[in-house]
Amino acid sequence: MSSRENIKDLGLTKQREVILQVIREADEHLTANEIFDKAKQLLPGISFATVYNSLRFLKESGHIGEISFGNGASRFDAMASRHDHALCTKCGKLVDMEIELPNEVINFAAQFSKFKLESIELTLRGLCPECSK
Ligand code: ZN
Ligand code: MN
Repeated sequence: MSSRENIKDLGLTKQREVILQVIREADEHLTANEIFDKAKQLLPGISFATVYNSLRFLKESGHIGEISFGNGASRFDAMASRHDHALCTKCGKLVDMEIELPNEVINFAAQFSKFKLESIELTLRGLCPECSK
């Protein structure tokens, strides 16, 4: 994982700082609603619109990542650099995977789709260790 800059050194507004802190301190990939609930405990007056707009800003400025699987709410990721995920099909647990995809796989996918490749993500779906017990 790349080293993270100290939140205080990023020149963010207080609200954005708190939201980034919530995302970094979570051991899960939180949804906007979950981030809102946690941010309210730190900044009681904060509105959902502020959280939503801050998430857009933090994503566009490269401080956080956003993951969506088409259905369901996006989840926000403290790790902004490219990485993959494993998703539990029973409990919804989502964990980071820092694995390197072989170039062969990437090139094959690009050829197969005839798309000009910008990025590729791998999602492993299955049962997490707790659910497969
Ligand atoms: Zn599970
Ligand atoms: Mn992640």
